[in-house]
Amino acid sequence: MSHPTCDGQPAADLCTCGTAAPSSLAVPPDPVRVTGDTPPDDPTALSVILLGTGAGPYPAPGRQGASTAVVVRDRTYLVDAGYGALRKYAQAGLRLSDLRAVFLTHLHSDHTADLFNLFLLGWGPANDGVNQPVHIAGPGPDHTEPDRPQPGTEGLLTHLLAGFGQDIAVRLRTSTRTPLADLVRAHDLVSPPPGRDVLVYEDDRVRVTAREVPHPPLHQSFGYRFETDEGVVAFSGDTAYSDSVGELAAGADLLVHETMEPDFYRGLGYSDRLLDFLTASHTAPGDVGRLATAAGARRVALSHIGPPDPREVGDDDWTRKVAATYAGPVVVGHDLTRLVPAP
Ligand SMILES: [Zn+2]
Repeated sequence: MSHPTCDGQPAADLCTCGTAAPSSLAVPPDPVRVTGDTPPDDPTALSVILLGTGAGPYPAPGRQGASTAVVVRDRTYLVDAGYGALRKYAQAGLRLSDLRAVFLTHLHSDHTADLFNLFLLGWGPANDGVNQPVHIAGPGPDHTEPDRPQPGTEGLLTHLLAGFGQDIAVRLRTSTRTPLADLVRAHDLVSPPPGRDVLVYEDDRVRVTAREVPHPPLHQSFGYRFETDEGVVAFSGDTAYSDSVGELAAGADLLVHETMEPDFYRGLGYSDRLLDFLTASHTAPGDVGRLATAAGARRVALSHIGPPDPREVGDDDWTRKVAATYAGPVVVGHDLTRLVPAP
């Protein structure tokens, strides 16, 4: 079967395809308010809000690009900032003045498209905007092609600040804002040895460690583990089934794991070669359950869901496939779902 979005694209783009054969069901609306767990009695305690839960750079109805907020008291931390992240951040009622750090799992555009918008559009003391330094951690430069090295996280932000220099300079001249370059604290991560974690951030609310996960052909892709007084939350990032994620998520109160349904793409007529590529870089729902069981995770939330359009694979299907290999509670992620980890 022809799949227009993917025709003519290199194989590396197929995994991030965001559209499929039109469904006769109504176009799903984008959520605009937070649902899910009720807020903790202590409104300052740990909560996780799935801002965007879809896979792939191509916009799909019903789910925005990958991004999740970890909220601990009056501070907010983001994992990824795919398209729509800023809008969902605002709809979640979060304040950019509370944003302390952004952790990029990798530099695919479906995880970074809205990163600079947090600063470009959200800069300044007005409207509770960004007015304190924000730590941004992510992959370093890619030297796969020695003649054409590609920038890492630091380079990405340096180029963006320069590219938007005219707007930034004008706003600085006409206000009392802190220079934006002083608020953007980008940091390239160095890969830890295989099977080891690296501490990437720590303050009096959270301790964040990272571990490399397999997401070929990218040279670096990370999962993250947040340790707080109120619980532990692990993020798989984009990854094939990996013991690294299992170790990162060991005993976690909540594991937010990506997933991709190969049966759906097989149904679109993908070749075995392309299906092999998908499964080498993403995780089928049954394998998410298997990994969560091995890790002893207390709860699993699916996010970065492919296909992202809820009409293509329904919540019951996702849940059934994870539950076949995992006995704990499963949440099928939708944008603006609040999760309150319970240690
Ligand atoms: Zn992705």
